Amino acid sequence: MSRALFIHGPHDARLAPFNLREGGPDTVLLDVVAVGLCGSDLHYYKDGGIGSALIQAPFVPGHEFAGYLCEDVEPLGLKRGGLVAVDPNKACGHCEFCERGHPNLCPNVVFIGAPPYDGAMTEQIFVPVSQVVPVPQSFSPLEAVMLEPLGVAIHAVDLAKPRLLERVALVGCGPIGLLILQVLKAAGAGEILAVDPQEHRRAMAARLGADRVGVSVQDIRAWTEREGCPLVIEATNSPDGFRDAVLAAKIGGRIVLVGIPDGDTYTLPAAEARRRGLKIKFARRMGEVYPRAIELVAEAKVDVTTLVTDEVGLDEAPDAFRRHAENAPGVIKTLIYPQGKPAKGGQE
Ligand SMILES: [Zn+2]
Ligand SMILES: [Zn+2]
Repeated sequence: MSRALFIHGPHDARLAPFNLREGGPDTVLLDVVAVGLCGSDLHYYKDGGIGSALIQAPFVPGHEFAGYLCEDVEPLGLKRGGLVAVDPNKACGHCEFCERGHPNLCPNVVFIGAPPYDGAMTEQIFVPVSQVVPVPQSFSPLEAVMLEPLGVAIHAVDLAKPRLLERVALVGCGPIGLLILQVLKAAGAGEILAVDPQEHRRAMAARLGADRVGVSVQDIRAWTEREGCPLVIEATNSPDGFRDAVLAAKIGGRIVLVGIPDGDTYTLPAAEARRRGLKIKFARRMGEVYPRAIELVAEAKVDVTTLVTDEVGLDEAPDAFRRHAENAPGVIKTLIYPQGKPAKGGQE
C-alpha cells in the first residue's frame, strides 16, 4: 500500500493510504522521487479548486515530478532504476486545437494532478510511456522535477517574444517569475525590472539577475518616469496582478499573464488598459518545451536549484502547504520527496 497526500477541501491536506490503480498496457510504474509544490496546487489547497475545476472528492495533487522507473521501457531504451521526468499533459491529438499545434489548449486534456486526475504526491504512480521524458544522466531529481515549471516559463517567454535588449517589467517573483526572469535573459531581453511584495523573493530576483527589484508596480513607474515598459510579464497569484501589469505597461505595449489569481477573479480599471491600446495574452500551461528546458538546465543557462528553498518528506507535506499558504518568510519553492528526502540540499 502506497501513501499519498490528499486535499479534502480548503486548508485541509492529509496523508492517507492510496490504492495504486492498475496501469494500462502503455503505462509504466515509477517510484516517485520528488514532486514540486506548485502555485496551482496551492490554489486547490486554499480555494478548493481553480475556477470551475473544483475538488469533488479527496484529491492527490502534484504535476511537477520525477521518478525512478520500476521496469525497463524498451521503446525509449530506458532501464529499470533510471531517473525520468514526466510531462503531465496528455492532449487528445485530434481536436481542432491539437491539430493547430496547441496541445496545451486541448479541451479533452488528461492532466496528471488536475482534478479529477490524481497527481504524484504519492510514493508510486503509473504514467503513460508517451509522457515519460528521459533526462541526461547528470541530472538530479530536483533538476528533473523543475523541467515542468521551467517549461511554463519558456512558454510564457515564447508568447512574449521579447525583442533583443528590450526592457521588461516582471510583476511577481515566485518560482515561475524567477524562472521567467532567467529565460528572458537567455532570450536576449534587456533590462529587467522586477517587483514582488515579499522581501526574500526580491532578494532572490536580484541574485538571479534582475536589474532592478522593487516592492510594487509603482516602483516600475518611478524607474521609467511613469512611462512603463514595452513588455510586461505577470506571474502573481493576486487579483491585482492584471491591474499591476497594465500599470507597468507602456502605451502600445504587450502583456503576458501567467499567474492564476486567488479567487479566480481579476480587478482591472478598464480605461488604464484601453487607453494604452495594449496587446494582452494569457499563458495556458505550455507547448513543446521539454527539449529546450533540458538544454537550459544541462548548459547551466538557468539555475533551478537555487529556487528550491525547502525539501521535505511526505510526512511534512501538509505542513509545507500550510507554510506556502501563509507566505512563510524564506519559502520560495518546496520539493516533496515521497521516498525520503535527500541527505543534503538539492543534489544527491
Ligand atoms: Zn505547476
Ligand atoms: Zn485535443
